[in-house]
Amino acid sequence: MQDKLLGWYDEAARHLPWRETRDAYAIWVSEIMLQQTRVETVIPYYERFLARFPTAEALADADEDTVLSYWSGLGYYRRARLLHAGVREVVARFGGEVPEDPDARRALPGVGAYTAGAIGSIAFDRPEPIVDGNVTRVLARLLRIHTPVGATATTKRLWKEAARLVPSERPGDFNQALMELGAIVCTPRQPRCEECPLVLECGAHEHGEVAVLPVSKPKKAPVVAKLSAVVATSGRGAGRKVWLVRGDTALFGGLWGVPMSEEEPRDALRQAGVRARLQSELVGTVEHVLTHRRLQVAVYRALGARGTESDTGRLFSNQELEGVGISTLTRKLLGTALLR
Ligand code: SF4
Repeated sequence: MQDKLLGWYDEAARHLPWRETRDAYAIWVSEIMLQQTRVETVIPYYERFLARFPTAEALADADEDTVLSYWSGLGYYRRARLLHAGVREVVARFGGEVPEDPDARRALPGVGAYTAGAIGSIAFDRPEPIVDGNVTRVLARLLRIHTPVGATATTKRLWKEAARLVPSERPGDFNQALMELGAIVCTPRQPRCEECPLVLECGAHEHGEVAVLPVSKPKKAPVVAKLSAVVATSGRGAGRKVWLVRGDTALFGGLWGVPMSEEEPRDALRQAGVRARLQSELVGTVEHVLTHRRLQVAVYRALGARGTESDTGRLFSNQELEGVGISTLTRKLLGTALLR
């Protein structure tokens, strides 16, 4: 089975920039970016990030705002902050070399079993397993796993099976081949079994269960949160500045954002520590979907923004806004308030 899959991978794999390297740091960056983000989206971000931070030292030396500005738009900013913290630890404790020892790797901030296994197998040629969404789907079908994805017993079983299957020869390619098979052949809907190198080994195919595996956990409906956001500005025209705050880690993981509140718009200003003349007219409503929450944000404007500037709240010129990490939601809110 391993040989068939590797043979297929050699022929069919897509050429992706992180597959051209064995550099553990670069692989780490790519794996973190690829979590919950599509390959096509990641490619330009990965290339820009590595051009700006080509080594662990370069990333460790950079300040958080610069790092986040290179992540801006990719979402899930906590990933970037943890990557930064993890790389700083590698530089401080391991002289900039990602540790080959799996326990030391897994102890780094932001490095879970998946990332540790990806680095171990791809960069260090160690037979360490990985399980992600694609591997889960392939193994659930191949081995006819009928328990729901996400249940503890299923997760344990998947890791055990992945560890059993990963060969000592070309473990990194094998892991990538499993993921690639899930991405381009064993897809969630209408898998192309007729092109699959493992069709003869596949339990789901043999038993006509391809359409029902993997079994998903019942989904919870996303919670709707209603918020008020206030785009508070100072000055006019090209000299106009906007007050942004930082600190709501649950929403934006340390990025600068527009003052928001679950209460009235004036509460958003109060909580942000900014004084400004709130305009009563609603400028618009922005919808934004996070993993478990659907945000409905009522957008207001305020003029004459002033307050004590600090690391958690200050005025930004248009030019400064280009250089800091801001989330997609913040961009939408600024666009709604400033372009109308
Ligand atoms: S035969 Fe079909 S269901 Fe089975 S692993 Fe291949 S693509 Fe997936």
